[in-house]
Amino acid sequence: MPISDYTRAAGDAFYSVGDFAAGLVAPTVRLGVTGLARSGKTVFLTALVHNLMAEARLPFFDAAAQGRLLRAYLEPQPNAMVARFAFEKHLADLTGRPPHWPDSTSRISQLRLTIEYASNSFWKRKLGRETLHVDIVDYPGEWLLDLPLLGQDYREWSQTALEQSEAPARKQAAKHFHASLGLVDPSDPADEAVVERLSDLFKDYLRDCRADPHTLSTLPPGRFLMPGDLAGSPALTFAPLDAKGTSQFPRGSLWAMMEQRYEAYKSYVIRPFFHNHFARLDRQIVLIDVLAALNGGQAAIADLERAMTEILACFRTGSNSLWSSLFGPRIDRVVLAATKADHLHHKSHDRLEAILAKLAGRAMARAEYAGAEVKVLALAAIRATKEGEALRNGERLPCIVGYPLPGETIGRRRFDGNEEVAIFPGDLPADPEAALKGWQGEMRFVRFRPPNPTPLPSGGFAAFPNIRLDRAIEALIGDRLA
Ligand code: GDP
Repeated sequence: MPISDYTRAAGDAFYSVGDFAAGLVAPTVRLGVTGLARSGKTVFLTALVHNLMAEARLPFFDAAAQGRLLRAYLEPQPNAMVARFAFEKHLADLTGRPPHWPDSTSRISQLRLTIEYASNSFWKRKLGRETLHVDIVDYPGEWLLDLPLLGQDYREWSQTALEQSEAPARKQAAKHFHASLGLVDPSDPADEAVVERLSDLFKDYLRDCRADPHTLSTLPPGRFLMPGDLAGSPALTFAPLDAKGTSQFPRGSLWAMMEQRYEAYKSYVIRPFFHNHFARLDRQIVLIDVLAALNGGQAAIADLERAMTEILACFRTGSNSLWSSLFGPRIDRVVLAATKADHLHHKSHDRLEAILAKLAGRAMARAEYAGAEVKVLALAAIRATKEGEALRNGERLPCIVGYPLPGETIGRRRFDGNEEVAIFPGDLPADPEAALKGWQGEMRFVRFRPPNPTPLPSGGFAAFPNIRLDRAIEALIGDRLA
């Protein structure tokens, strides 16, 4: 067995040979849930687990539709070194009075869901019920953007990062960072306070790009905005410098200190994440807020496409891939999902899927993608809106109806969270190419609060309504329950 396989096994609980022989160890599928900040990971994972545990109607998830899903329940996770996904707390938020959205993902966490099912195959079914452990790992998609850094030294990364900060869509946000950068000379003696100031300003710039109205996707280092438990550590305190043509900097210089921290980030942050977590996943769903990018306009769309290219490069296999040469990938299926489809009338759901497919196709071509099978869909893990019709100038318009979150506005109207309103969100264009060319239609997005929960007579709450969540579950684990 190669050394790397021993290291992989070390993260899990140890099972004895006797356990395997007695059939006590059920097969396990390790499912990664990722996406950039606010893409909907926490909501998706909470809804997925709740739907399976509450035995919801899931017509496109074969095992459930065929009545073969017998029981789903949570069990202690095998990896004692990773935080547990706070499922119960998130569900309590969603079923509170009034219901509210849970806190978003900010670090890696894990949950083990065990599914008992009857197999489809006659021979297997005769053996009774089968068990599958689904070990779900939720982590920030920003961390995947770090993979290319493993192939770049500090000088190359600095050059790329500074070029990106000069791009028209980003230049304004980088104003303060550029001003401070202009005051330092990389050959000056290293000074902790200067390093910290530049690093803080660089992080402010990344944060500003991410915020409305720019909605640009994050640039690496991924932990700068999603530090997890490493906030404030030296490995996360550096910034790019302008070498201005100098090829060598002395020891003890500002440049040398930044370079050392950058290398520490690669060794102690990037490599362990890919090795200990990412390399062990079997299936992956990447959640993408396509509607936010469409709302953000041409620059936001181009930026999302760049982020998708980098994320897809992580799933690429083959000798030309940095990733496969370093870690040896295992993921055999990737699902790309456009989230929050409940912001659209159902007539536009297929169009949203087509836009994501187009984006994915372009990103895959750019990443020279080959490897795990990729499926694309549009979903709403929790449907916060209903559908209706409204009359405007004698014309019937398809609407969505929901409670806008407190503080949301349409025109001059400001909502307090207690008012149900019908909104005409507009249709997405039939031609995905037109949407990606920076189309600014009549679309209007308002954030809604979660729907009211439905208590069950037996205790607990019914699963929330959703859009195409069952298709996502089928695409991710359906074949493992056949
Ligand atoms: P994360 O950062 O990827 O974990 O994102 P979250 O799961 O916390 O989602 C961020 C926000 O997006 C939530 O607070 C909701 O406002 C919104 N959201 C996520 N999923 C849905 C959905 O299915 N429908 C609607 N209407 N909003 C959603």
